[in-house]
Amino acid sequence: MNKTKTVIEQTEKYGAHNYHPLPIVINRAEGVWVYDPEGNKYLDMLSAYSALNQGHRHPRIIQALKDQADKVTLTSRAFYNDQLGEFYAKLSALTGKEMILPMNTGAEAVETAIKAVRRWAYDVKKVEADRAEIIVCEGNFHGRTVTVTSFSSAEEYRRGFGPFTPGFKIIPYGDIEALKKAITPNTAAFMLEPIQGEAGIIIPPDGFLKEAYEVCKSHNVLLVSDEIQTGFGRTGKLFASDWEDVKPDMYIMGKALGGGVFPISAVAADQEILGVFEPGSHGSTFGGNPLGCAVAIAAMDVLEDEGLVQRSLEMGEYFLKKLQEIENPMIQEIRGRGLFIGLELKTAARPYCERLKELGLLCKETHETTIRFAPPLVISKEDLDWSIERIKQVLHAP
Ligand code: PLP
Repeated sequence: MNKTKTVIEQTEKYGAHNYHPLPIVINRAEGVWVYDPEGNKYLDMLSAYSALNQGHRHPRIIQALKDQADKVTLTSRAFYNDQLGEFYAKLSALTGKEMILPMNTGAEAVETAIKAVRRWAYDVKKVEADRAEIIVCEGNFHGRTVTVTSFSSAEEYRRGFGPFTPGFKIIPYGDIEALKKAITPNTAAFMLEPIQGEAGIIIPPDGFLKEAYEVCKSHNVLLVSDEIQTGFGRTGKLFASDWEDVKPDMYIMGKALGGGVFPISAVAADQEILGVFEPGSHGSTFGGNPLGCAVAIAAMDVLEDEGLVQRSLEMGEYFLKKLQEIENPMIQEIRGRGLFIGLELKTAARPYCERLKELGLLCKETHETTIRFAPPLVISKEDLDWSIERIKQVLHAP
């Protein structure tokens, strides 16, 4: 039996079946390429759901990890460490926000945002105790904790997990009138993905984000942008909110903040909002640990020094155009910004992803009929051309 088969069998035997991976084992990776135990080579067009914007094992990020591992890895927040301040300063400059609160995973950062805006509603906006509301969008994906699942509109994310956390209102994505109607004096925040990733790379109507920002401002409601998947250059701008020149009141970040090397997430907002936390009100044993901070500092440096945001914009435009040139009756729509592209089919996408894997291209279906293409931002034009040939081949003969 080959190694791939053995690994898959062992994984499936002992692991909870909360994922349905493609049948490939990755045991080595570099840049945009990954390898299986038999030595086969694949181009990674998923980038661990956009956590690998800087590419697999970027040498500078790995070096930062090794250097920091040789000094100190964890202090807890009971003490200061010499990486956290620099990490704060860098992320504050990048977001233009006065304060940062670090966590580990995306879902934890979303929970942090929810706590922050609720407290802001009570302490600053003076909403009556326990009445604060948060408006979210249909088709949202903000993570998997019980509270975050409470405002999901997808039944498969919710079944059997109640009772849920109250205080959320769901409106159709991109519907400004619905937003206006949903706001009450108790509304703390409107939280959204500026482009919905898990829902299938859904881009809201032009001007929606800007208008939403203005509506929120005029009602003293905070605009919270979940940039966990869309941030750090993925959509061809530093943040997807930049497409409409919107500076949300709060950014939620994760994934590529850790360069695909170490889990680190954060929220960024001004003092008026993040100032609501006092000692004891929130925290995490590993949040803000020096190893994660050192990695995140390097990950942000790489993004900037290698011009990856601009690269995403240029390569994304090129790739989108090449995809749109493919004529095939099975294609429903192709949409995207930067290297965040969805190819929606008129049929199930999974068999196409399986076939693409056979040809050495790794991507994953999202919501049944959409194939998401989101390679590391370091990808070259040649590699994109290589991918296009395979995509054409599979579309013509699935
Ligand atoms: N928010 C968005 C927009 C996401 O895409 C994700 C993950 O895909 C999350 C939150 C949750 O992040 P994590 O899986 O790190 O908890």
